[in-house]
Amino acid sequence: MINILFTNFCILVTFLYVSGLLSRQYVTGFDSPSRSVKLCGGVLFGIYGIILMYYSFPIDPRFFADLRHLAIIVIASYLGWLPSLIAGLLMAVGRVLLFGMTGYSAVAGAGMLVIGMICGLISLARWDRLTKMMTMSIASMLVLFFVIASNIPDRDKVFSVFTQHLIISLLATLVIYMLTEYIHTSNKLFLQLKKYAETDYLTSLNNLRQFEQLLSERFLEAQHFSERLGVLMIDIDHFKKINDTYGHAAGDAVLQQLSKVLKDNARSFDEVSRNGGEEFSVLVPEATIAETTALAERIRAAVERHAFTLDDGTKLHITISIGVAVHPDTIRSREARQLMEQADQELYRAKNNGRNRVCSAPEIHDYMLS
Ligand code: GH3
Ligand code: MG
Ligand code: MG
Repeated sequence: MINILFTNFCILVTFLYVSGLLSRQYVTGFDSPSRSVKLCGGVLFGIYGIILMYYSFPIDPRFFADLRHLAIIVIASYLGWLPSLIAGLLMAVGRVLLFGMTGYSAVAGAGMLVIGMICGLISLARWDRLTKMMTMSIASMLVLFFVIASNIPDRDKVFSVFTQHLIISLLATLVIYMLTEYIHTSNKLFLQLKKYAETDYLTSLNNLRQFEQLLSERFLEAQHFSERLGVLMIDIDHFKKINDTYGHAAGDAVLQQLSKVLKDNARSFDEVSRNGGEEFSVLVPEATIAETTALAERIRAAVERHAFTLDDGTKLHITISIGVAVHPDTIRSREARQLMEQADQELYRAKNNGRNRVCSAPEIHDYMLS
């Protein structure tokens, strides 16, 4: 039995490692996971449990020892009651499908469902994670005791099997707790550092480094698929006056509110960045120069209309100037930098022509190239 439980433990550790990699890739908010993350987690850990069951050890023709309940414990303590129930239900169904619809299978399957429910309930408690996991482990083993006792007639065997299983299960829970906490903390740190490296602290938009990265990626994609890529370079008009009149903190509040106006008026797949100071940009894929100019005009008008509110309740209005360039409508360069520079020149033109306006680079017509 110890051998097979050790094999089970090693399989579970591998699964946890893979789940850690998956969650690093796909789970963004660790402290408030979305419903779809919970559903996927429940299904994934239910499948883990079924695989662990497949490697179980028949102690008696009617009882198989394994650590499948630990899959429920882990998912319940990290993602809550919903995935706990799903995992328990899947394992119950898996138990019956794998080993046939006998009375023993039905009892063992029902046991998994009850473990899913109990772990789900314990997950709601306001305890620290180690206490929750150890309590879940003991509660699961109590349920398994009834499964063992109802399937194995020999009392002495029931107690020896249960005692070994209990000790191994508690030790495994402790080690799994240390491992999952390590994976969880390092994933959280990784996402935090990634966020700090890519986003602007004041507005939470992409920062300059991320803008440059996105620009070169999107530009390569556009070239590869013969698609368009537009750039809007945006600068607030006379922003210095706002700082001078209302103070730097008021200027910061305006920058934060402007970032929201920009995001609300760009399309969902456009990338809005704060390139520095009071300069912003929007990357606009798959739109002609006419469509991109119309988008820029919509953004400019929305900013002009918006009443920016300061902490003391003061309302003020600002305007922005925008320069627009689109590959390959206005520039046919092999370098993304030149697209950005063209948009920058147009911004400069907008400033010189009186501000609060959009200036777009002229469209290149094919006859101009021949
Ligand atoms: P223009 O219409 O020519 O763009 O005039 P402007 O005053 O907006 O431009 P200028 O470049 O002269 O000044 C930009 C100002 O933006 C100066 C600086 O104090 C302010 N600024 C830059 N970064 C921040 C910031 O993070 N917070 C605040 N509050 N102000 C900032
Ligand atoms: Mg400015
Ligand atoms: Mg500026």
